[in-house]
Amino acid sequence: MASSPPTRAPGLATRAIHAGAPAERFAGAVNVPIFQSSVFTQSRVGDYHEIAYPRLSTTPTHQALGRKLAALEGAEAAFVAASGMAAITGALLTALGECGHLLVQDNTYGGTHAFVQHDLPRLGHAFDVVDATNATGWERRLRPATRAIYVEAMTNPLTKVADHRAVVAFARRHRLLSLIDATFATPVNFRPLELGYDLVLHSATKYLNGHSDLAAGVVAGSKELCTRVLHHQNHFGGSLDAHACFLLDRGLKTLPLRVRAHNDNALQLARFLEQHRAVERVHYPGLPSHPHHARAMELFAGCGGMLAFAIRGGGDDAEAFLQRLRLAIVGPSLGGVETLVSRPAALSHFGLQAHERQALGIGDNLLRVSVGVEDVQDLIDDFARALR
Ligand code: PLP
Repeated sequence: MASSPPTRAPGLATRAIHAGAPAERFAGAVNVPIFQSSVFTQSRVGDYHEIAYPRLSTTPTHQALGRKLAALEGAEAAFVAASGMAAITGALLTALGECGHLLVQDNTYGGTHAFVQHDLPRLGHAFDVVDATNATGWERRLRPATRAIYVEAMTNPLTKVADHRAVVAFARRHRLLSLIDATFATPVNFRPLELGYDLVLHSATKYLNGHSDLAAGVVAGSKELCTRVLHHQNHFGGSLDAHACFLLDRGLKTLPLRVRAHNDNALQLARFLEQHRAVERVHYPGLPSHPHHARAMELFAGCGGMLAFAIRGGGDDAEAFLQRLRLAIVGPSLGGVETLVSRPAALSHFGLQAHERQALGIGDNLLRVSVGVEDVQDLIDDFARALR
């Protein structure tokens, strides 16, 4: 007897292309158009919450994008913000409520670090830092006002992998909200809500868009939590412009394709660097030599496009290497199709004292690579020439 195949959720690549689009296409258009309008008619007089307005992220372009992002993260809801920092600050302020206390990973993105260190205390909140890679000692940092724990999927630039299972279990045990910046991982490699995180945040400026041509942020989680964070965003005004929504939607369609290429290229480049005599050490979770390799293999579908390596010599040798690159671009940021290389001691971590950088393991000779999706042999040739 013939039986119909079991219904199964569409795969990630299918969701990246089709999810979120309204059932009735606008004028038959395959793409969700840019609704370049700040005013929309009111369908029923008096229902404020039905108003479509760009600052409230309620235009059709915003809503279609939110649905796609929720489908990619496996979330009940998601929305976009004007930047990664708009998403992160809105989520943290929501999670902390009034005079809250935060447990935060000891090594977060510089903007997040500065916000936690300088802005949260001025707004009446307190924080303590924890080593998120090792749960020992987290309990001791708890206070009656502790409301949330905040980590990143992988740290910048050393790609340390937090003990994500322990973070989720700890948060549940102590009724804390668990927040994760999953920018480096993307939903292709890691969907933290499936593990039990409460809120996932992204700088969509990076991999989600993938073409280095806009700034955006994402918040995903339960409908209830997203509504609360969006409420903050509506007041602070950090919504995403409609044209950037369109570009992000376009970028997302190739996210699974791109991320798989980033994963493959980064692993091959990491292997090449690891055996090169001019390289002291390579930090990439896909390498068995990485301290969190087993954890990364268990949690992630791929290890992403970010790696760091220490070149033999000092800062001058690292600078000379940068000058010799011809294909890879020397510059900040990450997650685009093009390979970008930077020296954290001179860029992302320049603001720290030398001893602070040393304590974090960021030497003058460390280089960070956002491995792009070029032909990997061309990248290897470029690095080989520059290392010579
Ligand atoms: N989170 C991570 C891991 C980042 O690398 C960045 C930016 O580099 C941000 C957040 C902030 O994102 P945005 O620049 O989009 O505000």
